[in-house]
This record gives sequence, C-alpha cells and structure tokens, in this order.
Amino acid sequence: MSKQSSSPVLRFAPSPNGLLHLGHAFSALYTWQAASLLGGTALLRIEDIDAERSKPEFTAAILSDLHWLGLDWPEPVLHQSQHMDAYAEAGNRLRDHGLLYPCFCSRSEIAAAAEGTDPDGAPLYPGTCRHLDRGEQITRLERGDPVQFRLDTAKAMDRVGMLTFTVVGPLVTDRPQVRHARPERWGDVVLQRKGTPTSYHLSVVVDDAAQGITHVTRGRDMEAATDIHVLLQMLLGLPSPIYNFHRLILDDAGKKLAKSRGSESLRGLREQGWTPEDVRRAVGL
Ligand code: GLU
Repeated sequence: MSKQSSSPVLRFAPSPNGLLHLGHAFSALYTWQAASLLGGTALLRIEDIDAERSKPEFTAAILSDLHWLGLDWPEPVLHQSQHMDAYAEAGNRLRDHGLLYPCFCSRSEIAAAAEGTDPDGAPLYPGTCRHLDRGEQITRLERGDPVQFRLDTAKAMDRVGMLTFTVVGPLVTDRPQVRHARPERWGDVVLQRKGTPTSYHLSVVVDDAAQGITHVTRGRDMEAATDIHVLLQMLLGLPSPIYNFHRLILDDAGKKLAKSRGSESLRGLREQGWTPEDVRRAVGL
C-alpha cells in the first residue's frame, strides 16, 4: 500500500497521551516550515496505538492547538489505532522470517539481568529468552503467560548487512549525507506484545511508507531510534525517508520539555493569553 509521490511529504506525529507543550509546537511549526522550504506537504498522524494512555480528548486538543497555531493538513488524518491489521501483517512477516521470538521476562527480571543501557537509558535486554527451546515457547504461549515479541537484532543485522541511511541538516535543504545505522545498541527491541500486534517502532515504519513520507523531521532525542527504523525498513522492503533531526526546546533548568514532567501545555499558555506569535517567538521560529 505504499504511495509514491514526486513532491516531498513530511509528517508531524504526536501521541495523544497528554496536552502539547512548546516542544511539540516547535516540532510542528518546524515541520510545516520544512515542508514549505521543500515545496511539499505536511501531514498529521495521530500515534494512538497505546489504548490505555491515548485519550480522544487529547486528540481533540492536538487538532485544536495546531489549528490555533495556524497549521492545516490534508484530510483524512491517519489514526494508528485504525491500522492495527497493517502492523500485524508486517510483524507477522518478520515472524515468518524467524526474526521475532517470544520473551516472557518481567520488567524486574530484565532490570536485574540487564547488560548496560540502551540509548534512552533503559536496561538493555540481556537476551534471556532468545534461545528458549520451541517446546518451552509453545507451553508458555499456550498457558497464556504474558508475552512480548522481540526482534532478534543480531540475526536481522546479519540478514541485511551494512546498514546506512540519509540525513540532512541542520536545514532540511542541506546536502544529504550518508550515515551508518547501529541498531545493535538497542538490543532486541519489543515489536509486538500480547493484545497489541505492534509497537512504536513497527507502526512508524509501516506508516511512513504507507503515507509516502519522503522526509522525517524529528527531535534529536529521536535520532538514535532511527537506527531501528532503518533496519525494519530494510527487513520489510520499505523505502527509507531522508531524516532531519531538529533541536529541542529546553526548560530553564536545561531539561527537555516533557508531558510526564508536567511541562506547561499550549492549552495553559493559550488560557494565559498567549498568541500564536508569542509561541513562535518563544521557540525561535
Ligand atoms: N509519536 C512520537 C512522539 O510523540 C514521534 C513520532 C516520530 O517522530 O517518529 O514522540
């Protein structure tokens, strides 16, 4: 279902698990500005695969805040929760190729046995379940044990050989550069879990291809995750967009803004009388 487009297509892809803050406003404004510099289009994608944390009121707030900022996008907006079949199909293809394995480890077991940390600082999965024998896998699956399906990253890397991707920056119009991907630093990432046939990484690559995304603009905090995305693109035979990593908006203490730390929302700033111009000035665009 991938769409080929001759003109650039970009996307802003927020998760509706909270209100947007100035960091999101910057990322959205940056993406629309990049689309305009390239003579292309910016799409909106709602990344709502997490049924527990995603709320319709947050999706409504995202649409309202972005319109208030003066941004618009072609309809229909892609809601990931409505595309679970496409992600399941992609995940199952990886399973059929013997690249996923069931993992029954709990969070605390992983933390106790972890061998270092991944680029996000989370415990690196030590590979405990990678070599479980088939009989034990079947027994535990049939028993209904909580399960996650992990990518055998080393095996996947062997299949694809040297892995590179294209980066431009700091400006989206700069000269493209080829970079080596290092997915091994993430270890065996989770791609599917019981009841959810996908994960952030899998949905993103399936949708970037389905929507014909030519340029992914995302914050520098997502730079390392791109390594996993280009590996999945190769494994699934999907095109790889050009990547551009933008600066992050930091708070007074120099920390990245985050919903989870209660950073001031755009909604709150609007209520205090901020204008879209104030937002642009505050984020330097
Ligand atoms: N949905 C992700 C987020 O809100 C970003 C998606 C991406 O750039 O791939 O952080």
